[in-house]
Amino acid sequence: MRNVLIIGSGCAGNTAAVYAGRANLKPLVIGGHEPGGQLSLTTLVENFPGFPEGINGPNLVEGIKKQAENFGAEYVHGSVVDTNFGTRPFGVNVDGEWIEARTVIIASGASARWLGLPSEQQLIGHGVSSCATCDGFFYRGKRIMVVGGGDSAMEEANFLTRFGREVTLVHRREEFRASKIMLDRARHNPKIRFLTNTVVNELRDTSTGLLTSAMLQNLVTGKSWEEEVDGFFVAIGHIPNTKVFKGQIETDSEGYILSKGGARTNIPGVFHAGDVQDRVYRQAITAAGAGCMAAIEAERFLEAEGH
Ligand code: NAP
Repeated sequence: MRNVLIIGSGCAGNTAAVYAGRANLKPLVIGGHEPGGQLSLTTLVENFPGFPEGINGPNLVEGIKKQAENFGAEYVHGSVVDTNFGTRPFGVNVDGEWIEARTVIIASGASARWLGLPSEQQLIGHGVSSCATCDGFFYRGKRIMVVGGGDSAMEEANFLTRFGREVTLVHRREEFRASKIMLDRARHNPKIRFLTNTVVNELRDTSTGLLTSAMLQNLVTGKSWEEEVDGFFVAIGHIPNTKVFKGQIETDSEGYILSKGGARTNIPGVFHAGDVQDRVYRQAITAAGAGCMAAIEAERFLEAEGH
């Protein structure tokens, strides 16, 4: 029986583990299918307070994990496949094994969103990727395309200019969701070409199983054309990882957990932290803050119950 079980090992889950560990609650952290969360897929994080020169994303999240382990947090590899929040103690099934817990902190984050084209799905790993940091290296001297108009797309496009001979950024609107600083940086990068009001209708060549080109369409003129491309990176946001809690934890229409104030979900004793609930800020620092809040609430909940 665990006092605190934390689902997810990103910035939110690891920070919750630091606080719960330091409160002597010996938290158990379930690593999840993307251990380290989104920070483990990023490069330099320039806006996490305390690091004037910036810090590497994977180093940051690994550092928080070590800090949690120093306070007695335990980590297990594996993914949550089922939960039972209907009775107490709560049940969490990790790859087939049920674990009981008095409190649960859901910090399962969000995963990359895909365009949803059949050809995109067929070519994942063969020219199509959602992670520039992981796969950029394969496209040294090649033609790269990035889709999206937010900070992720700008960051990925800039990063990929280190490798590609040119990077084309495709965005479906004229206006960008990206912050001004990130957009300006991409605009001033001579290797980045912008294609706005443009959508990707298909990727080729599924017959050979290797990406060769993208079929594009300008939404204003209606014109369609084909562009040769070797690496195609999708950076169009994320989907909250809440499928496994469906029917138990209240979410909004897109699957983000509905907060009942502070870190509370609709079930007393089950708390949320980070991107799994936050559709607005979605930053490493806000996820860390949310992890801290969830751990403090779990601690108070246990105390009130006499544990
Ligand atoms: P986002 O801000 O939600 O932007 C997603 C972009 O993808 C939007 O431009 C959207 O277009 C486009 N998009 C969505 N679905 C699409 C589809 N089916 N087809 C084509 N385009 C589609 O997501 P994000 O860029 O991943 O950023 C998420 C959060 O992380 C933000 O808060 C961001 O500030 C933060 N972030 C920060 C940094 C940093 O500061 N270093 C780096 C990365 C991310 P529309 O605009 O038309 O909706």
